[in-house]
Amino acid sequence: MSRRTATSGFPSWAFVAFVVNLGHCQPFPGREPNPRMPAKKTAPTAKAKKNESSNPWKQRLAYLDSRVGDMVATIREFVEIESPSDNKLAADRMGALLAGRFQALAGQARVHRCEEYADSIQINFAGRNAAKPVLLLGHFDTVYPVGTLASMPCRVEAGRMYGPGVLDMKSGIALMFYAIEALKVWNGALPRPVTVFLVSDEEVGSYSSRAITERLAKESAAVLVLEPAAGGHGAVKTARKGVGEYFLTVKGIASHAGLDPGKGHSAIVELAHQITAIYKLNNLQQGISANPGIIRGGTRTNVVAAEATVEIDVRIKKATQAAAVDRKLRALKPHDRHCQLHLEGGINRLPMERTPGVAAIYKKAQAVAANINWKLDEAAVGGGSDGNFTAGIGIPTLDGLGGVGDGAHAVHEHIVVSELPRRALLLAGLIETIE
Ligand SMILES: [Zn+2]
Repeated sequence: MSRRTATSGFPSWAFVAFVVNLGHCQPFPGREPNPRMPAKKTAPTAKAKKNESSNPWKQRLAYLDSRVGDMVATIREFVEIESPSDNKLAADRMGALLAGRFQALAGQARVHRCEEYADSIQINFAGRNAAKPVLLLGHFDTVYPVGTLASMPCRVEAGRMYGPGVLDMKSGIALMFYAIEALKVWNGALPRPVTVFLVSDEEVGSYSSRAITERLAKESAAVLVLEPAAGGHGAVKTARKGVGEYFLTVKGIASHAGLDPGKGHSAIVELAHQITAIYKLNNLQQGISANPGIIRGGTRTNVVAAEATVEIDVRIKKATQAAAVDRKLRALKPHDRHCQLHLEGGINRLPMERTPGVAAIYKKAQAVAANINWKLDEAAVGGGSDGNFTAGIGIPTLDGLGGVGDGAHAVHEHIVVSELPRRALLLAGLIETIE
């Protein structure tokens, strides 16, 4: 396993080149050819060449293009350390590697111990000024059990990189690394303080890390979440639905289905009534959905079932909908009065709403992207992330800044390699421009 440090990872000319270059509009010297980037189809005109060399953002992009090979190697290294949320031993290896990698960029790592899940990792970077830090938020746990690599090996095929967790969200962590590294190369130091927080239990609800995430967010000017981008065009996420998880248990009365059918009170029949009631909570126009996703119940066909359960996924669009949905679920009454209902769970993540603070960061992101003629779209999505927590407490948050690809949590999970440089550029530009 390569543990090459960042400082040895970029050529020594790079720093000099940028100091000289950004002010003087010189052509960018010494750029290494990158075998992974497709060759330009047509030779640029003299005018286009002039524009290219006088636009510092294009020079920055060229620098990041030259780093793609290392980005891919880093992402491979991350993906090949399997780190499922529920395997502390395995995921702690990933956390330790990440702490080391970011420390090599002169960050100060702090380990937040956790007994049930892996330790979450915080890395603080000092900046030139004393502005509030920008919080870069991500998670290194995945939904894939140890051994998945055998059937889903990490590989690059036709410009796409595949592997468990490559999109959600190990490439996002690599983007944090290369954006910080690039800012140091371009400016000699980070322009402002940056806090990186890498969570170990996002895929299972962030119960151990949530309080830390919220505390760090409160100390920060803004939160940038490196979860995957939305769709093939790489839109950032300015709204996410809130997510709730409920467990309804029905207790009935068992009896012999043949000898004493009248004496029993079926938990399964009662559950069927409850599921219809739960389904009525759906109001897609208002962005509310309730999905009875898993049901269990009964023991034998000749026994009237004594117990049955349903697990329900609830999504809401606005924070104000949370209380009403919760109240309606808690108000469910047994159809058969001999049965009892027990409801557990609640709304875990409030929605990330497109507040003026969110809209303002998106505007800044659009402005950064426009420097390289990139029209950056935004999207509202149904899935939740830790960005819901930080937006929920009123801290301006922009999500979906990570890799572009498809198939999160599925066998075809992948990223598009050629998107990496401009994603790193966008992140670096945002770190610089957020006030
Ligand atoms: Zn994720």
